[in-house]
Amino acid sequence: SSKVVIIGAGHAGGSVAAFLRQFGFEGAITLIGDESAAPYQRPPLSKAWLSGETDIETLSLRPNEWYADNNVTLKLGVSANAIDRDNKTVAVSDGSNVDYDVLVIATGACPRWTGAEGENLKNVYSLRTVEDAEALKNAISPGGQAALIGAGYIGLEVAASLRKAGIKATVIERESRSLARVASEPIARFLEDYHRGQGVGFLFDKEVEKFAGDGSVNALELKDGSKIDCDIAVVGIGVVPNDAIARDAGLECGNGIIVDIDARSSDPSIFAIGDVSYRPVPHYDCTFRLESVPNALEQSRRVAAVLCGRPAPAPEIPWFWSDQFDLKIQIAGLTLDCDEIVTRGDPASKKFAVFHLRKGVIRAVEAVNAAPEFMMGKKLIGQEASVDASKLGDISVSMKEIAS
Ligand code: FAD
Repeated sequence: SSKVVIIGAGHAGGSVAAFLRQFGFEGAITLIGDESAAPYQRPPLSKAWLSGETDIETLSLRPNEWYADNNVTLKLGVSANAIDRDNKTVAVSDGSNVDYDVLVIATGACPRWTGAEGENLKNVYSLRTVEDAEALKNAISPGGQAALIGAGYIGLEVAASLRKAGIKATVIERESRSLARVASEPIARFLEDYHRGQGVGFLFDKEVEKFAGDGSVNALELKDGSKIDCDIAVVGIGVVPNDAIARDAGLECGNGIIVDIDARSSDPSIFAIGDVSYRPVPHYDCTFRLESVPNALEQSRRVAAVLCGRPAPAPEIPWFWSDQFDLKIQIAGLTLDCDEIVTRGDPASKKFAVFHLRKGVIRAVEAVNAAPEFMMGKKLIGQEASVDASKLGDISVSMKEIAS
């Protein structure tokens, strides 16, 4: 194809442009993004950014001059408003229309809000963009009190960052535990205990009724009638895929834009990658919307390979990481339909892994400060190898030996 247009200049959009050039694509590439910064990494926004340990240059996927040097037209600060599939053009908010032969939708996702009264008060934040992170950082002052709504990865990572900055942090969660959608109970309970040890408070089975305050938030009122004082509130209750532009254009959508293994949508000229795509996960025979950097990279590499006529890379086992205090959490695979859990190592040592097996085969691994378990576990998942559960749970037997 001669003209590739990418909507969304985030991790997936920026990466597909780079892989296309890396794989020798010589046609035109236009990257349209509604943020003012060129593609950058979001993971540090809830971590190093809040403690002032990084900046936008460091987070940029590529230096700004890379785009011109590689003949990629970067249109920033504008949004794509509509796709005309018959004429193969994209209408952009600056009034221009951009023609495509192939369109890649990489619009990501945006934070979900609670919808409770007072959510638009000053000092109520969400966290997706560098602007969000900068605003939150500027609101941090020692001795402050933060209420974090949602005990997902964002809530836990922000809680850790705020504690390090000397701020009181209370996490409020509707479910009865943290990470209910994204990690197993043993890992969640370990992290909660660890956070408590660092002074983070948790309130489970609680929902926000109202953000109270006069101009700025000063308390959260919960549905059970209780009240939490705070001068910062951060809402981290998940994200919603930015798929409106695809729906309006009549593309098939479910929980995001439905794509096949090559990330192709129901229109063969249009691909969708990253957080916005609802994709098959071959190893688990299911369809998922994966919200992770590895997923964005896998799909962007795959689309670039397909467009350059290269053999498609082998599908990857989904994986994810999170950093909280001095804990590096790494997760591979999906825990669907597992019938056995094996813990390897002692959680008290802050270095252990939880394996999830189905009929003696590893399907997922959740590792805390345990890189070899994570890496070897991920490999074993891919190989669908049967393992001896008693050896797996015995740290005197090396992962290498278990794999052989
Ligand atoms: P995005 O990076 O969100 O990019 C989409 C871009 O498209 C955005 O710039 C958006 O503004 C733009 N856009 C949307 N609609 C339009 C339009 N109509 N026109 C033009 N532009 C548009 N993942 C991990 O694996 N590990 C982590 O530790 C981790 N930590 C995270 C911490 C934070 C605070 C956040 C927010 C995310 C984290 N993630 C992490 C998730 C990871 O960042 C995302 O999965 C990844 O950014 C997805 O890439 P994407 O390109 O699909 O979406």
